Amino acid sequence: MKNRQYKSESKKLLDMMINSIYTNKEIFLREIISNASDAIDKLYFRSLTDSSVGLKKKDFKIRISIDKENRTISVSDNGCGMTEEELDKNLGVIAKSGSLDFKSENEPKRDVSVIGQFGVGFYSAFMVSDKVTVISKAFGSDSAFCFESSGPDGYTITPAERDGFGTTVIMHVKADTENENYSEFLEQYKISGLIKQYSDYIHHPIVMSFTEKKAVEGKDGEFEDITEDRVLNSMVPLWKKAKSQVKPEQYNEFYKEKFFDFEDPLHVIHTSTEGTATFKALLFIPRHAPFDYYTKDFEKGLALYSRGVLITEKCADLLPDYFSFIKGLVDSEDISLNISRETLQQDAELKLIARTIEKKIKSELEKMLKNEREKYEQFFSVFGVQLKYGAYDKYGANKDALKDLLLFVSSFEKRPVTLKEYVSRMDKNQEAIYYACGETADKIAMLPQCETVSSKGYEILYLTDNVDEFTIKVLNEYDGKKFVNVCDQNLDLDTEEEKAALSEKNKDNEEMLKAAKEAIGEAVHSVRFTNKLKNHPVCLNTEGDISLEMERTLNSMPGSDGKIKAQIVLEINENHEIANKLSSLYKSDKDTFNKYSKLLFDEACLISGRDIKDPAAHSALVCELMTK
Ligand code: ADP
Repeated sequence: MKNRQYKSESKKLLDMMINSIYTNKEIFLREIISNASDAIDKLYFRSLTDSSVGLKKKDFKIRISIDKENRTISVSDNGCGMTEEELDKNLGVIAKSGSLDFKSENEPKRDVSVIGQFGVGFYSAFMVSDKVTVISKAFGSDSAFCFESSGPDGYTITPAERDGFGTTVIMHVKADTENENYSEFLEQYKISGLIKQYSDYIHHPIVMSFTEKKAVEGKDGEFEDITEDRVLNSMVPLWKKAKSQVKPEQYNEFYKEKFFDFEDPLHVIHTSTEGTATFKALLFIPRHAPFDYYTKDFEKGLALYSRGVLITEKCADLLPDYFSFIKGLVDSEDISLNISRETLQQDAELKLIARTIEKKIKSELEKMLKNEREKYEQFFSVFGVQLKYGAYDKYGANKDALKDLLLFVSSFEKRPVTLKEYVSRMDKNQEAIYYACGETADKIAMLPQCETVSSKGYEILYLTDNVDEFTIKVLNEYDGKKFVNVCDQNLDLDTEEEKAALSEKNKDNEEMLKAAKEAIGEAVHSVRFTNKLKNHPVCLNTEGDISLEMERTLNSMPGSDGKIKAQIVLEINENHEIANKLSSLYKSDKDTFNKYSKLLFDEACLISGRDIKDPAAHSALVCELMTK
């Protein structure tokens, strides 16, 4: 008998199970039962088109038996079973473990969460057992096989006997320890309680035999042992129950089990629709993004059931990309059980369901925003980027649907506000919605241009996500008000006289400003005076469509060659002492004028959070002027 080795990640997971970092040991039963139920689903599905299966829906069941003497719990199903290869492939490796990252072995807390993201699965049996035996016969095969393992040291697979196809998982329950009473799992009441708690909705009967002493009829004082099978689960899927019948804990348990999360969901949407589309849906907004959410490996989708039977675990067409964070399932009477994955995409019914679901999610989010602001902000801090991306994506095709769900940090409130809130309190003289971009709200608040706009009493939206400015550009306006970057040259806060005066000043000094541009070189597109600055001597601005933030974002995207260039303008505060100094130097000392111009450009770069091109040259120049 060959001892086979577990794949390394599986071994680590097993180690964790055995050493029980995962404290909630009792969930082992729901994991084993849910595997049995999945296996039955697979065969039932097949029985719809393959008469050789020879079983009707009512014939499928999961049987639990307890053997106190030998300390075993067995879970037996008449599902699809596994071949020798499948036993090896499915139980010797955790299928989904490829990307498991166990670097954090010294951080037990995080490890639990990692496991949680994958579902603990078959290996959870090792939390309560010191040996697990699996006897399985695959449908269509003549021979059965026995997988047996006592832990990370490996496992064996040997020929075995089994009546009929299906799988029996026999868990050899650990001996009790000082802290753990494993023996309670050998009690019928405990097991039936666990099934009620965790597996009630499983839509195949979970049966257990109960033996009770009963009075023999007609014979006074005589008792006999009567054994009968009892179905332990109600088999009504949670989503088919009335909302009023479901407790919040039940939703939470269901969510965590089904979607492998270690945290309760942030929000539950349980809905039943009749009419044009008839379906029930149970949807969840997670509290945190899945570890792969912002990678290309992430697959969105909802599980799709037809009359309680699973058709596909992930139907991507049921969710728009911008709601891809939603987990959940849809159960429809209108979708045929025999529908194939290919025809599913074309299905008109499915499209109708998808549209209805999208509307429902949107209205739930709107309701949350209105009535549970804190919760919404929590949601937005995790998935807001996805909504903003959704508004921007497809050239803004969905911007109208999403614009009222977006939040941006406000200079007034120092916390996220909606565009509606912004517009509702705009000054009557204010024509545009002002925004500014940067790494953090604090850094943005220090921009000279923000000072100018704020001093007029106007609110500014601080955009800190890479996608923000793209979203704003696509939105273009809200409620008829244009979005204007406070750094935009067209920022129009001046009276006609002020404008005329500034324009004249720039014209009068045209030659000098040109000379300054020449001194600075390629890095700058032009140099001009501004009346917008209060205390700062200089600032950077741009001309054209590309702002400084966009230049940074576009150049940091994978595959970019860093060639995107904003047209940078150096603006000099016309009321600052430095403006006069420049004018006099321009007349008296061209060489120093050139040096000052360069220095001022570097200053402006620093103020706006950009690197200076040549720090060594800058420093040399400063020293030279200091020692003059
Ligand atoms: P998961 O169920 O999340 O895929 P598990 O570790 O629980 O992970 O199970 C691994 C695989 O073993 C399953 O995907 C399934 O293919 C197979 N398996 C487990 N239990 C059974 C069973 N009772 N009948 C048939 N196949 C099973």
